[in-house]
Amino acid sequence: MADLDEVKQQIDKLREQINYHNYRYYVLDSPEISDAEYDELMRQLRELEAKHPQFITPDSPTQRVGAAPVEAFGVVEHPQPLLSLANAFDDKDLEAWYRRAADLLGGRKFDFVCELKIDGLAVALTYVDGLLEVGATRGDGYRGENITQNLRTIKSIPLSVPRNKAPRRFEVRGEVYMPKTGFKKLNEQRAKEGLPLFANPRNAAAGSVRQLDPRVTAQRPLDIFIYGLGWAEDGTVPDTHWEILQYLKTLGFKINPNVTHCNTIAEVRDYYRHWVEYRETLPYDVDGVVVKVNPIAYQLELGYVGREPRWAIAYKFPATQATTRLIDIGINVGRTGSLNPYAILEPVQVGGVTVRSAALHNEEDIHRKDIRIGDWVIVQRAGEVIPEVVGPVVSRRTGEERVFHMPDHCPVCGAEVIKPEGEAMHRCTNAACPAQALERIKHFVTRGAMDIEGIGEKLAQALFENGLVKDVGDIYYLTKEQLLKLERMGDKSASNILDSIEKSKDRPLPRVVFALGITHVGEETAELLAEHFHSIDELAKATREQLMEVPSIGPKIADSIVAFFRQEQNRKIIEKLRRAGVRLEEKKAEVKALPLAGLEFVITGRLDSFTRQEAEARIKALGGRAGSDVTRKTNFLVVGADPGSKLARAQALGTKQLSEAEFLDLLRHAESQLK
Ligand code: NAD
Repeated sequence: MADLDEVKQQIDKLREQINYHNYRYYVLDSPEISDAEYDELMRQLRELEAKHPQFITPDSPTQRVGAAPVEAFGVVEHPQPLLSLANAFDDKDLEAWYRRAADLLGGRKFDFVCELKIDGLAVALTYVDGLLEVGATRGDGYRGENITQNLRTIKSIPLSVPRNKAPRRFEVRGEVYMPKTGFKKLNEQRAKEGLPLFANPRNAAAGSVRQLDPRVTAQRPLDIFIYGLGWAEDGTVPDTHWEILQYLKTLGFKINPNVTHCNTIAEVRDYYRHWVEYRETLPYDVDGVVVKVNPIAYQLELGYVGREPRWAIAYKFPATQATTRLIDIGINVGRTGSLNPYAILEPVQVGGVTVRSAALHNEEDIHRKDIRIGDWVIVQRAGEVIPEVVGPVVSRRTGEERVFHMPDHCPVCGAEVIKPEGEAMHRCTNAACPAQALERIKHFVTRGAMDIEGIGEKLAQALFENGLVKDVGDIYYLTKEQLLKLERMGDKSASNILDSIEKSKDRPLPRVVFALGITHVGEETAELLAEHFHSIDELAKATREQLMEVPSIGPKIADSIVAFFRQEQNRKIIEKLRRAGVRLEEKKAEVKALPLAGLEFVITGRLDSFTRQEAEARIKALGGRAGSDVTRKTNFLVVGADPGSKLARAQALGTKQLSEAEFLDLLRHAESQLK
């Protein structure tokens, strides 16, 4: 039967691919494809095997977990196998799992425990007479690697447990992981030393724990969460999973604080939805939620099918990573002339969205990650942030890949490109570069700047390309007739746009300073400058030295401001704004009337009554300034619990200190003056 031959061939091909990726993932800690792509290969294989069970073999990847242990570590036989988990990818899968369990239990009611699925690697820790005896990896589920010496370096793994409370012999299971911050630092360190980077925290954790020298492991920021009891001898243990976790906590094991008990499958779904939304806020990577049937007696009744328990399921989060080809590296020229490289990708699905391009930051970063044109790359999209290229899949290189270099000339206007000393970005030197002009217009109208509603990116581009707006000053001279000539512009929209342009003439000074788009002048700096100079004219006249008197303004920002106002073209823009009636100075009367005007506060330590941001917002609302460092210009240092080095600096300078209570009094008093 030609058809069956074909199926068999397909199955063999999938098995070969999966075995190869298992080896890269479990033995080399260096995967070539994303988990979602791997899961898809597994799904295809399972589907074919389900339709043609005669082809199932005991060595099929669907029947096994992980990979055989590496002999160099010494092999540990697991008395009870450490198996895998079946996956659910949507509510339907979850429901099907629940129905199957409920049917097998003959309609008896049961509850659940929901846990986060920590993205690390499974380990089993065996304790005998209160002491940690063996720590092992999962390996192929039956035989793992003996990594006791390495696991002993992880501070949150107890080396001993209270003998009077614990069974004489027992095994706990958990997930070793690397927190995100530790992972970032480790990769930065490796980049400095010219070592290859880890693709993600999971690979870093697996690579660190499987070191032949425990001294290397000891230096890696590893941690663990214990998620269950493997087995126990000579002792009594609770009879639900939930109580077991509480009990393990009393023995000194670290249990994830987000574990939750759920009575219904609807509560399970809520738990999942909550963590889909908040997963990014966790300090470690999670790739799903594990749902477990709570009563141990029911778990035993349900048992296993193949390599997966029927009493638990992993409900996976939507994927955030995928692999694809980097076709080319493009360049965007920003409003300050910076040349921003971006990846042009073969379109790929990440978390339900088609990604075609991704951020690449700067040339140094591209070289640090060793990303080359033509590479297969891992692309990541987390939360709402712009997709980014995590790194190349070096093992898939063919030799045809090209190292990227920044162009010597601006791709838009052809002017010379420079890389200023100490900066990461390359810049186009032509202030009249059309790309810069357009980006400046787009920036000028944004919400944090002049907030001209109705002029979005597309309209800004149309106005620029039609020659109606060559620089931001021209916006204020647009007429209705001109607007109506643009494609798809109706009478009403045109009137609305003109209205919002009119309204924007009265924006507060800090917004105007920010809107000008001076290199290195962000919203916060703009606020400081406005407060210090009170008008654009004063700011334009300021010398480098005068600018540097403003707290937190250093030579780099000062030089950039001086250079901006020295340019004839920029001075012309300011004149256009002035003639159009844009307010270029502070409303002095208003500011003077505020009770904390002219006073600078710096906060150190933790405040009980509010967060740092809230405290700073209240200071600003009263006309005061919130500084980040104590300088001679600081009037008050607010001292919270566990103050930092700012306190010593304030003492050295003789700055007046306020306790939290005094500070609150002062705020209340000032606020009462406003009424
Ligand atoms: P699994 O990761 O889907 O599930 C089982 C594992 O979950 C356990 O061994 C345990 O380590 C972990 N886990 C985390 N938190 C847990 C908790 N609270 N309770 C219980 N277990 C918890 O299964 P698997 O067999 O380890 O491997 C499959 C995974 O590895 C998939 O995500 C797959 O995409 C990935 N993988 C990827 C590649 C690749 O090339 N990208 C290759 C092989 C495997």
